[in-house]
Amino acid sequence: MAYCALGARLFYLQVIRHPYYKPIADQRKVKIPLLARRGMILDRNGKKLAVSVDAYDIYVDPSQVENKAAVAEKLAPVIGWSRERLLGVLNERRLFTYLRRRADADLWKEVKALDIRGVGANPTMKRVCPGGALAAHILGFTNVDGVGMEGLERAYDRVLRGRDGFFEAEIDARRKIIPISRGRRVEPVNGKDIVLTIDGTIQHCLEMELEKSYKAHSAAGASAVVMNPATGEILAMANMPTFNPNSVAESDSGSRRNRAVTDLYEPGSTLKTITACAALNENAITPNDTFSCNGSMRIGRRTIHCSLHPPFMGGHGACNAAKTLRYSCNMAAARIGLKLGRERLNKYEAAFGLYEEPGSGLPGESNGMCMRWQNWPDVTVANIAFGQSIAVTPLQLAKAYCAVANSGLMMRPFIVQEIRGLDGKTEVAFAPRVVRRVISAETASMVSEMLCAVVTGGTGKNARVDGYRVAGKTGSAQKAIEGGGGFAAGKFVASFIGFLPVTDPKVMILVAVDEPKGTHWGATVAAPVFQQVAREAMWRMKVRPDGLPKESPPVADRAGEPKSRNRGEASGRPRMGG
Ligand SMILES: [Zn+2]
Repeated sequence: MAYCALGARLFYLQVIRHPYYKPIADQRKVKIPLLARRGMILDRNGKKLAVSVDAYDIYVDPSQVENKAAVAEKLAPVIGWSRERLLGVLNERRLFTYLRRRADADLWKEVKALDIRGVGANPTMKRVCPGGALAAHILGFTNVDGVGMEGLERAYDRVLRGRDGFFEAEIDARRKIIPISRGRRVEPVNGKDIVLTIDGTIQHCLEMELEKSYKAHSAAGASAVVMNPATGEILAMANMPTFNPNSVAESDSGSRRNRAVTDLYEPGSTLKTITACAALNENAITPNDTFSCNGSMRIGRRTIHCSLHPPFMGGHGACNAAKTLRYSCNMAAARIGLKLGRERLNKYEAAFGLYEEPGSGLPGESNGMCMRWQNWPDVTVANIAFGQSIAVTPLQLAKAYCAVANSGLMMRPFIVQEIRGLDGKTEVAFAPRVVRRVISAETASMVSEMLCAVVTGGTGKNARVDGYRVAGKTGSAQKAIEGGGGFAAGKFVASFIGFLPVTDPKVMILVAVDEPKGTHWGATVAAPVFQQVAREAMWRMKVRPDGLPKESPPVADRAGEPKSRNRGEASGRPRMGG
């Protein structure tokens, strides 16, 4: 009695599903696979984001097909092939060709109803994302063999996959299973489910709003992250362009990239928050110290510029830390950075996690990029203080802002909340983890209040949310030319990062839009996305308002702020800042 060590699946196809295939005389023992079901990926509320459903690999044995032209005629439209292509396959001298892999049960039913000799199907499973493109970059996708290739499907492949089983059987001379045959039987072990920290509703809202801005400004790309600053839970994460994991073949690699974790960008003015935190925490400056801005300043042989706009055409004048953030003054930020010094500025950038992978568990995380601090000339110190000459990923910066929102305590971002055992009960639960204390609670609270003033009366007015106190910062960073050597004309990353309610922050939201056309200001491109998502999150999470029930009436020209020009946004010569 011969034992067949052929690939179990192929053997199964040929033997069990091809009863007419070359019968031979003696009995044989075969191994028949028992498929494990891949675990589900669920959002925090149990909403199914990725599931495995029954499917069929439909095949043909051309040698068995009679009247090939007639078969091609009636089968081709059902399987979505051209008649010529199918006829070509039927005329090949092969014993086995797949017609469709991972076909729906309905399609197989239709094909089966045609009752064509030589056409059969092998039961299998198919990965389906019921939400289509929802959370595509987070979920990733599997290949045709059910192996995770990207995103969490890849990172958690071993947990999700399970283990196929098999049973051994004997077949008779006509290659039919003999029911009484007693062979070994190993039951399949289904994959485990994973539950994410993602909230499907906030995720959906984030994707809609981000796509709106991405399309309205014909941007090259966009990324956004929503986190709970107190725990590090990632509540939503989205990128544009995006793709549908149910039809991966129709997408390109650019649209499949999880830019929020892989792509580095110069954060621009949003980094002034880090500079202010560092200087205040080190007592290098006091909240009352002022730094002058007359629009430009020479450092060595280089001149750096501020964003100039009415009534600040001659510069922002004397800026304390609060005013520096509120009007996004480059000069004052540079002077604060120079006063703090390269070593301490670098120390805080490291402490805020800008040089390390965030550790979220998502594959492909990038590290930040910056010159060695020992080599920073003064102009670099100045540039870094307002967010140039340093590159970070959106997730890194989101994590840093969460530390400010969370009284100075930085949490590790995470996206998988629990792994469920086969009984549906929690097997592994991932708890929030503190990375380190970055700044004191006092510094964090002081800077949060300064960021609050950015939204009530500075460059961040478009991020206001009725009833809540919102802290945030705009960024409109001119993109550096790759490989160094200045800035790319007209190419900016427009961003907004903030959190609310300031009294007890429940969400941090980062929005970064790459190369928007027409306008490049974070306030007009990114802040509106923040505002819509923040509203949705407050409603969804039933967060108690901490501010006035309605928007406060516009305060008359406080500190000479621009009078609602471009909705409080700066105009004038675009350089950096804003
Ligand atoms: Zn200035």
